[in-house]
Amino acid sequence: MSNNPLTQAQCEALAEKLFPKITKTPEYYAELYPERNLPEGAQVTRIAPSPTGFIHLGNLFSALADERIARQSKGVFYLRIEDTDLKRKVDGAVEAVISTLGYFGITFDEGAETDGDQTYGPFYQRQRELVYKAYVKRLLAQGLAYPCFCTAEDLDEIREKQRELKLTPGYYGEWARCRGLSYDEIVKKLDAGTPYVIRMRSAGDGVQKYVFRDSIKGEISVTANNRDEVILKSDGIPTYHFAHAIDDHLMHTTLVLRGEEWLSSLPIHLELFRMLGFKAPKYGHHAQLMKIDNGTKRKLSKRKDPELALEYYRKLGYHPLAVKTYLMTLLNSNFEEWWLKNPDGKLEDFKFSIGKMGQSGALFDIPKLDDVSKTVISKLTSEEFYDFLLEWANNYEPDFEKLLADKEYVIKVLDLCMGAGKKRRKDFVCASQAVELLSYYFDETFKPERDFPLTPDIRAKILTDFLKTYDYADDGQTWFAKVKDIAASYGFATDMRAYKENPDAFPGSVSDVAEVLRVAVTGHRNTPDLWSIMQLLGKERSVARIKECI
Ligand code: GLU
Repeated sequence: MSNNPLTQAQCEALAEKLFPKITKTPEYYAELYPERNLPEGAQVTRIAPSPTGFIHLGNLFSALADERIARQSKGVFYLRIEDTDLKRKVDGAVEAVISTLGYFGITFDEGAETDGDQTYGPFYQRQRELVYKAYVKRLLAQGLAYPCFCTAEDLDEIREKQRELKLTPGYYGEWARCRGLSYDEIVKKLDAGTPYVIRMRSAGDGVQKYVFRDSIKGEISVTANNRDEVILKSDGIPTYHFAHAIDDHLMHTTLVLRGEEWLSSLPIHLELFRMLGFKAPKYGHHAQLMKIDNGTKRKLSKRKDPELALEYYRKLGYHPLAVKTYLMTLLNSNFEEWWLKNPDGKLEDFKFSIGKMGQSGALFDIPKLDDVSKTVISKLTSEEFYDFLLEWANNYEPDFEKLLADKEYVIKVLDLCMGAGKKRRKDFVCASQAVELLSYYFDETFKPERDFPLTPDIRAKILTDFLKTYDYADDGQTWFAKVKDIAASYGFATDMRAYKENPDAFPGSVSDVAEVLRVAVTGHRNTPDLWSIMQLLGKERSVARIKECI
């Protein structure tokens, strides 16, 4: 009990005076929350978001790793809501966490708003006040915590002086004014109704260094904490630091995965675990998601980057599997190689390894996500992609939903657009982009760009000639033979080899003629097979579109 002016008896009396109603002891809670009965090596992981309503990529990034590690080891993955800061609380935020992560296929075994085992609950920190207080009371009785009566002004003044003296800011050592209060002084302030917080009595010197093994970063050097951090605020609610130590201990978390922004708090947490007599969990501090902005790498920011919010991907209609697969490429350095070797493998079949998580900033790159997405979508059946589009449209694009009503037609369109067998096209990135890509299959959304090749008068001639001999009943070969005839009649090359050898000898080739038709019918230059498209659109629609161009 170094530096503590209070005797053991005074510490105990103070604990009783501050928390007369707290009768349950740490031993009681240790029994209430017994060791979990799990197989050897099982990992217990969690995500512990604050209910701010903002669910971001970082949450999914952590959750994905947590979920894989827990499930792979036959452990437990749970959701705890860190709602100690009422100012940041938003209604419906917990439901939003569950539904947003649920969209990406992340489910919890236990935790807030789940049907899982409740043994280790409640999982809302606000409902665990009595638990925290039992431990605060014990620390007070042991002389390891003390009440602090400093006001916001006092703290400002301390900070200001530290700044002038170029010292590290904080409540420590000689700056920790209330650390040395005598029992009588404390009692006098309490009896006068002076507001107070409870602080831990740090035993560290803020200088000594020790080596800590982080599950992701490996061995890191940590400087011993010396700050008397607040553990219980004046409203009786714990700080994140304290609640983290108590909850992760009592809920038997074995591995805390969190962003590296928490590394600076690690010394406080390790000291708290020691003070409380708990074995600390393993920690893995993962790199933050970065982006390249104007040639420099920087952290994704809530203010500047809409793509940080998970809602962004849902709104644009990214397939959840695409986002998850892409995040896996960032999470585990060997995932991409595995995926190439196992193109049809499920994410769950990949052996996730915490040792393969990146130590420095992971670059989040939308074009790469789009590439992954194209591959993921190309592996869906047309039916699966249809169902996905329908659900997305139902939530975000009611006009598009109406177009999807003719399922048989849309499935045929998707069959054509996605291609058959092994030669699947990789055109689709996400649902909102599909609205664009599919627009010419519906009159309601047909907005031709009309970026034609060749000159207007030759175009008109080609289109007019085409209509003269067009027969809907023609098969693809006959159809193409007619297009070739038109090309030849205007001196265009019909033999592509001859054209490539001597392009200047011709005004163009048969593919220019086909292109004119393609742009007339679809409004675009890059589409699947044109004959097939015209078969799907039907005679009337195809002819009408060509006529309009003439
Ligand atoms: N509530 C913290 C957060 O909002 C949790 C950090 C942790 O995982 O311990 O990120």
